[in-house]
Amino acid sequence: MTFKGTLIREIKGDQLSYIKLEVLFFMFTDKILTCRDCGQEFTFSASEQEFYAEKGFTNEPSRCPQCRAAKKQQTRGNSRGGYDRPQREMFPAVCANCGKQTEVPFRPSGDKPVYCRECYQSHSRDNY
Ligand SMILES: [Zn+2]
Ligand SMILES: [Zn+2]
Repeated sequence: MTFKGTLIREIKGDQLSYIKLEVLFFMFTDKILTCRDCGQEFTFSASEQEFYAEKGFTNEPSRCPQCRAAKKQQTRGNSRGGYDRPQREMFPAVCANCGKQTEVPFRPSGDKPVYCRECYQSHSRDNY
């Protein structure tokens, strides 16, 4: 159990001292929580609770450290593009050959005909 100067100072403004102690005791005792993702029990340690209190977080962690780390890695991967290439944005287009609705991986500029996959394949085959 750790007492931090900042927290003690904050709590000194309260009215009843035994409640202060209860709050501190409650806040800085290891807790067993259940992970929302994998259902495993994990320890929300006193030092973690202290860290949370310092940051002003009032919620308990809902995930175990492993799931939290996995999630962090996931979001970091997504924002950076990760190992997998991000999916290319597709633009709706109408095939200049058969008039079918299709999607192309570039913005149709209008000065070049756009073909659907089948027509594009037969078109490029014709050129060879
Ligand atoms: Zn978990
Ligand atoms: Zn076509």
